[in-house]
Amino acid sequence: MPTATAALEVENLTVDFKRRGTTPLRAVDDVTFTLHPGHTLALVGESGSGKSTVVRALSRLITPSEGRISLAGAERTRPAAYRSAVQMVFQDPFASLNPAHTVAHHLRRPLLVSGAATRADVDARTTSLLDSVNLTPTADIARKRPHELSGGQRQRVAIARALAPEPDVLLADEPVSMLDVSIRLEILGLLDRLKEERRLALLYVTHDLATARHFAADVMVMYRGQIVERGPSDEVILRPRHPYTQLLASAAPGAAGSRERAREARAARLAARGSRSAELREPADARDEGCRFRARCPFAMERCAQRPPVVELDGTGHASRCWLEAAPD
Ligand code: SF4
Repeated sequence: MPTATAALEVENLTVDFKRRGTTPLRAVDDVTFTLHPGHTLALVGESGSGKSTVVRALSRLITPSEGRISLAGAERTRPAAYRSAVQMVFQDPFASLNPAHTVAHHLRRPLLVSGAATRADVDARTTSLLDSVNLTPTADIARKRPHELSGGQRQRVAIARALAPEPDVLLADEPVSMLDVSIRLEILGLLDRLKEERRLALLYVTHDLATARHFAADVMVMYRGQIVERGPSDEVILRPRHPYTQLLASAAPGAAGSRERAREARAARLAARGSRSAELREPADARDEGCRFRARCPFAMERCAQRPPVVELDGTGHASRCWLEAAPD
């Protein structure tokens, strides 16, 4: 269960991308959530849903159009302090490491810049970081350059580098999608252990519901910039209420239990309908307040052209943004 103290609070985050001569693209629309120490929240959705834009806004790589991001209750954190407290693990470990530098260089620099180590103890701290991500023998690894490592080893280095400034929040953006299937669970297991040991607040961004269910206590499902369903992982993934989540669950049979198989046939029909829809590839018009799933949804009705309400489904925090859950007029 999350602790009462939040590590990061995100309120009404909205990101519009201006497009010359046309309406703005709303990549993220009114997203609100909280990250807690020692707790993993998964953000799931297909490519283009806006997941990575959320991460880029949280890492301050882009400026939100609206909304508030506050670190441990303090909205106005100095940029350097915020960057140390909120670290990222990228999708592609090879691209995120400099091929010209050794592993030791990749770790020493953030240790010294953030003040987490002094020149006197930076070597010991580097060794400790490598040890913490199971990269041994540490002296050999520290001398190597990225091209001398396997994909899994490179991602471990990237994780160690993210840990160097002793962050409170880790944003893991598809951290295993470019790795061999055989080592994905190892890396996710490592992130899970580090989250527990260091009381990290972990945002796990993925399109894979099965690992989201396994590694995250809570899940948010994103579709074209909006959170359409959220709640405890088992509730959302085993008993999805939003038609889009049902579609995602049907594409990830490993995520569901045996009792959910019957739902898959219906969701497969949704998937077929979706694959024919051109709207999937169209950007979200910032002026369109209606449900963004309505072109693919078999339950779409007239009022779905209005902004759907977010309806709490029970006392567990499970909620769906859908007119199907609203009381009839
Ligand atoms: Fe379907 Fe309407 Fe619900 Fe959107 S609001 S998912 S279109 S029923």
